[in-house]
Amino acid sequence: MALTPIALLSVYDKNGLLELAKGLHDSGVRLLGSGGTAKKIRESGIPIQDVSDITKAPEMLGGRVKTLHPAVHGGILARNNASDNKDLEEQKIAPIAIVVCNLYPFAETIAKADCKLADAIEEIDIGGVTLLRAAAKNHERVSILSDPRDYADFLKAWVESKGDVGDDLRNRLALKAFESTASYDAAISNYFREHYASGGSEHPAGPIQQLTLRYGANPHQKPAQAFVQSGELPFKVLAGSPGYINLLDALNSYALVKELDEALQLPAAASFKHVSPAGAAVGLELNGVEKNVYGVDDLKEQLTPLASAYARARGADRMSSFGDFIALSRPCDLATARIISREVSDGIIAPGYAPNALEVLMKKKGGKYCVLEIDPSYSPGTLETRQVYGVSLQQKRNDVKITPSLFQNIVSQNKALPDPAIVDLIVATLALKYTQSNSVSYALRGSVIGLGAGQQSRIHCTRLAGSKADNWWLRHHPRVLSLQFKSGVKRAEKANAIDLFVGGEELEGGEKDQWESLFETVPAPLSVEERKEHAKLLEGVACSSDAFFPFPDNVHRAWKSGVKYLAAPSGSVMDAECIKAADEHQIVFAHTSLRLFHH
Ligand code: 5GP
Repeated sequence: MALTPIALLSVYDKNGLLELAKGLHDSGVRLLGSGGTAKKIRESGIPIQDVSDITKAPEMLGGRVKTLHPAVHGGILARNNASDNKDLEEQKIAPIAIVVCNLYPFAETIAKADCKLADAIEEIDIGGVTLLRAAAKNHERVSILSDPRDYADFLKAWVESKGDVGDDLRNRLALKAFESTASYDAAISNYFREHYASGGSEHPAGPIQQLTLRYGANPHQKPAQAFVQSGELPFKVLAGSPGYINLLDALNSYALVKELDEALQLPAAASFKHVSPAGAAVGLELNGVEKNVYGVDDLKEQLTPLASAYARARGADRMSSFGDFIALSRPCDLATARIISREVSDGIIAPGYAPNALEVLMKKKGGKYCVLEIDPSYSPGTLETRQVYGVSLQQKRNDVKITPSLFQNIVSQNKALPDPAIVDLIVATLALKYTQSNSVSYALRGSVIGLGAGQQSRIHCTRLAGSKADNWWLRHHPRVLSLQFKSGVKRAEKANAIDLFVGGEELEGGEKDQWESLFETVPAPLSVEERKEHAKLLEGVACSSDAFFPFPDNVHRAWKSGVKYLAAPSGSVMDAECIKAADEHQIVFAHTSLRLFHH
């Protein structure tokens, strides 16, 4: 090997270059540079050779080929062993000890408003990426400087160590070089996806890899997009143009209904708002009262099991479901589409649509209703990554299965857990898996009837879910079922009026006048007695919690809303107290040992 160490310099960003070149030259390093880099160094009076002097090949193709040559890459990639040294000697190639390289500014170029595709492509650095990768690969022997901010420290280390900066520094520089080529390639593939595999914001015909969104979570958050890094997006846009939050809802809600269907072998539906379920249910048949409560008693179509699932999911909390994103576990049929067509909703995701159902949905919102068709065979990768405040967070996807065996460890005195209660516990627990934490969910007859989401304290979740379940139950009260609305009152207005009625809030002034104007006969408020009597009739409710109950108040509160079956992980110092509270109310309490936080 040659005694004089060689540094190869080829940089777009020439900041700090002269100081580095001078320092290296002064410490006895021989400098080699590509066209512009060598010129700048030479002009400042520091001796440097052109790369073409050692390759004996000129730079060509307008700069597309500068350093791509065995004399360069042989010199970088050679290991310090007999065989590689012999190859170098035979080819008269000198080993290179230091590579200094940074790349053409691809990201800055494409960010310019007038950037043409050809400009962008010309800005793709080839030889520089190869220099970085080759030097970083051979970091056992070669130092790779890819960031001008590292020049000063490196030079100091090089001078002090007389040319052996040590493994630690070379390792860190190699990592940095690979991070830089990775982000460089990510910017290029992102640009190519947008140009060659994008569907734009309107619904494209074929499968696509990237979908440009109008904006992100808020209108000022532009640009925004959805994409996969390989293959195609697992859904097609049949109508409308999904927004960022629509897709968060669609992908979470479909995961939920798919798992519900798999767990219970029943069609499932979910009604999502702001990335938590407003309702979720499986397709158990509705009785006459339920049809009334869920607002489908006047539907002309016979309810199918799938339509029953959606009626339950949409109708359990009609206020929260207003403007929902819907997920169905099975292809949408006509009856389900008819329910959807009369509600205010943002969009739907399902693994297919019957032609007559699609026809109904395509007419909604003047053709702008968002209809997504998901590939039911799609299975997401094991790892999921997202960024928060510039930091990437990665975790294994929450792919745990919710099955009846989760509720086997019954810790209460009462151990009678009938099959319908297991169905309800699965519905409540699976809903939690896709609800922003903290969360507590109440379910009955295969349907979530109250969900407390996104609260910082558990008792607030339990209370919120409980009060929703109470309202849901009061909507079954005979006086609510026989409310006489004036003709022409809209479905959403009725839902709001009923919510005010069962909520018992005292109305005043204009709000009171407006509320009363909806009725043929203004109903007297439900008395405390009426409420109490009715509440006693609610029983057999299942309740699940996404983490342990820290205090027994949760158990007492759940019991007040008819909870008979309770599931929560163990782990609280108050576990024994919580079990005692369950026993006081003859509640069946299962410790699941499964925490289900979701964010
Ligand atoms: P210079 O200003 O020295 O002429 O060019 C430096 C730039 O060229 C650096 O950004 C480096 O990454 C890039 N580069 C080095 N070798 C090659 C090559 O063979 N092909 C291409 N396209 N770029 C190269």
